[in-house]
Amino acid sequence: MANAASPTPVVIIGGGPNGLLLACLLAQRSIGVRVLEQRQNLAARPRAFGIHPAALDALDAAGVGTQVRAEALAIGGGEFSSEQRSGARRVLAVLRFDANSPRPLVLAQQRVEQLLAERLDALQPGALERGVTVVSVTPHAEVVQLVVRDAHGEHPATARFAVVCDGTRSALRDQLGVRWQRRSGAGQYAMADAPAEPRDEPWVRLHGARAGVVESFPLPDHRRRWVVGLGSHEPAPTEPELAALVRERLGESPELMEGTASTFTAQQHLAHPLARGRAVLLGDAAHEVSPIGGQGLSLGWAAARRLAPALERSLRDGEPRFAAYARSTRRAALRGHRRARLFMRVGRAASGARSRARDALVLVLGAPIFAPIARHLVVLHRA
Ligand SMILES: Cc1cc2nc3c(=O)[nH]c(=O)nc-3n(C[C@H](O)[C@H](O)[C@H](O)COP(=O)(O)OP(=O)(O)OC[C@H]3O[C@@H](n4cnc5c(N)ncnc54)[C@H](O)[C@@H]3O)c2cc1C
Repeated sequence: MANAASPTPVVIIGGGPNGLLLACLLAQRSIGVRVLEQRQNLAARPRAFGIHPAALDALDAAGVGTQVRAEALAIGGGEFSSEQRSGARRVLAVLRFDANSPRPLVLAQQRVEQLLAERLDALQPGALERGVTVVSVTPHAEVVQLVVRDAHGEHPATARFAVVCDGTRSALRDQLGVRWQRRSGAGQYAMADAPAEPRDEPWVRLHGARAGVVESFPLPDHRRRWVVGLGSHEPAPTEPELAALVRERLGESPELMEGTASTFTAQQHLAHPLARGRAVLLGDAAHEVSPIGGQGLSLGWAAARRLAPALERSLRDGEPRFAAYARSTRRAALRGHRRARLFMRVGRAASGARSRARDALVLVLGAPIFAPIARHLVVLHRA
């Protein structure tokens, strides 16, 4: 364990996808890093599965892109349909992704985290320490002082710089006096997995029913993930209840697998400021973006790619150089919020004039002449 006489160059608090990817980028630059992760094992709860080209670029930069491509499923395209006044389903837009240009991939977040952890271990063995909770972080003029808790109790630790990467519910963000500003765009959703049909194509399907959206995504292990928009006070549905909602809205009956149902609340927040002296925020601790549209990993990893050189410069200069990182990360998060808000609006329960306006917009974007714009809107090439 590092002591006050030899501070670790960079301590990363949180070994989620953002902490791990940043650690790989730093280790590739021969910067000493400790990643402190409170969990002993990878989180089991299903989260991200969509990897946009912008996220894949970051995985390439960290040295795991080839492996991710080999295991992931490439999305062939997407279809948007809506419920008409008669109750019939009408396909409004079909978007194909060109096999020769970058397109979104699907791979479970847990698997990507595992690949990043293995890569980090190869670059800097022992850098990831599991079962270690950071209790406090205090930036001083020359170092950052931390208190960490492991199976043996609490200990002090010192770093030259600390990256707070402990997720949306970051306790350390509050401790640093960083505000967590709420931004518009919110919703409740439930999801569960079903076995895919034998000849299932790797297509995304979105259906705007009057009662709310139904989305269905292909997964690599021959499953489909069904996501259903809920009302704000609707209780969490069981798998049969969720299947009934899909049937009511779409007329299809997926066989949702027992034990796969979960709910999530989409919210949007931005931390301000993004750095306090020698402590800097990254990933969901810095910006929460609605999962609808699957931008979270792209935004966090693009920020990690900007933060790695900023940390290298800070170590060289002996003082924090995070202003440009904070500016560009804030701008990217605001762009992400706007985009997610649009996606959530398109899927929101709608009838009458609102539903007609939504359908008209989708019809326009679905026209062949506007396909490049539509592709640009739904596929994130830069974050
Ligand atoms: C339902 C859902 C679906 C999503 N789908 C997508 C998608 O398809 N595509 C996409 O790009 N994004 C998606 N996202 C967003 C994506 O999951 C997040 O952006 C991503 O997990 C953020 O990573 P992170 O490393 O910043 O935070 P986290 O993944 O939350 O990791 C933070 C880590 O910090 C650890 N920690 C917390 N406090 C401490 C402490 N005090 N000491 C030590 N360790 C600590 C935690 O145990 C955790 O491992 C989705 C999110 C949800 C909820």
